[in-house]
Amino acid sequence: MEYPYCIKFGFDSASIESRLRWLELEFSDHVTAWQLQELVIAPNSQTIIDDFYTYLGGIDESKPFLADKITVERLKQTQKIYLENLGIKFDSPEYFESRLRVGQAHAWIGLSLSLYQCSYRLLTQLIIDHIPADCESSLREELQIFIHKITALDMSLAIETYHIAQVRTLEESLDRAHIQEDQLRFEASTDALTGLYNHEHILSILRRTLEEDTLASKPTSVMMADLDHFKEINDTHGHPVGDKVLMEVSRRLGSAVRDFDSLGRYGGEEFLIVLKGTPLSTALSVAERMREHIAAGPVSLHGPKVDVTISVGVAVVQPGDEPDDLVSRADKALYEAKAAGRNCVRSVN
Ligand code: GH3
Ligand code: MG
Ligand code: MG
Repeated sequence: MEYPYCIKFGFDSASIESRLRWLELEFSDHVTAWQLQELVIAPNSQTIIDDFYTYLGGIDESKPFLADKITVERLKQTQKIYLENLGIKFDSPEYFESRLRVGQAHAWIGLSLSLYQCSYRLLTQLIIDHIPADCESSLREELQIFIHKITALDMSLAIETYHIAQVRTLEESLDRAHIQEDQLRFEASTDALTGLYNHEHILSILRRTLEEDTLASKPTSVMMADLDHFKEINDTHGHPVGDKVLMEVSRRLGSAVRDFDSLGRYGGEEFLIVLKGTPLSTALSVAERMREHIAAGPVSLHGPKVDVTISVGVAVVQPGDEPDDLVSRADKALYEAKAAGRNCVRSVN
């Protein structure tokens, strides 16, 4: 199983050097590191680890994290690798990265940073306790100082690990919040039945489009499309079939308009289409294509085949127009299309 955080910290040589300087870890310490491994760790690593976890297992605060035997085994393995590499090539980026993994493992099981830091004191003591009794006193002192420095380095890295793990958690919840926000925004702007923009949203698009086109001295056109005799369809086939007809008509309208046109469900069986930067002649041909597309064939719904047509009113912007002016002229044109016998396109400009 992978830990959820596999963090790349990217230590550069400047940040490594400054930390080593603070800890007074020098080139000569590489020799001490090897001596530590040879004299202390290699012969005693398993005992140190067992003692470490036996002690932790006896502390109330750490018990919940160590109740599961498999987890403890995993931690012990990580700890063994940690010990058997302690101090080796301490000035390399790889060393820094590998030290962080131990902190990651503990952050992952939920052990608090403060408890984790406290346990370092114990670990440091256990390592020191295993310096051989016959070790010459100057070497003993050298080893002890080195053990303190190298575990202090680990502690400083542990803080980083925990910090980054927390940042990750926050980032993840922020990502989730963004996804929820997008979802809410989508729902707030979408008509549930047809998936098209809803009344409010298509009007806000019209408002914005009109402003942008006016600034760019371009025309804005709008179309109001309405299903013909839709009440009859409902009355003949029932409301659920009427709903499906609305869905299919919406799909056909969507494929007839251009990518940059905006299509919304304005009301029950009425659709408003905003055509950015579009003169009347072009709007009329888009409207005609739309009308043909709907009338091209019956809507088939695994049952009744329902013939459906639309009437369309088209209007283009006039100087000083507000969105409402454009909509009401398109509405007027739609009324004329209905009066002319339906299944046709009209404009009033
Ligand atoms: P016209 O050609 O003059 O537009 O006639 P029409 O029958 O289409 O117009 P009318 O305004 O008389 O009726 C519109 C119908 O649309 C009535 C209403 O029940 C139906 N309708 C509105 N919204 C929905 C909906 O979401 N689902 C269904 N199934 N019907 C709806
Ligand atoms: Mg109608
Ligand atoms: Mg209507």
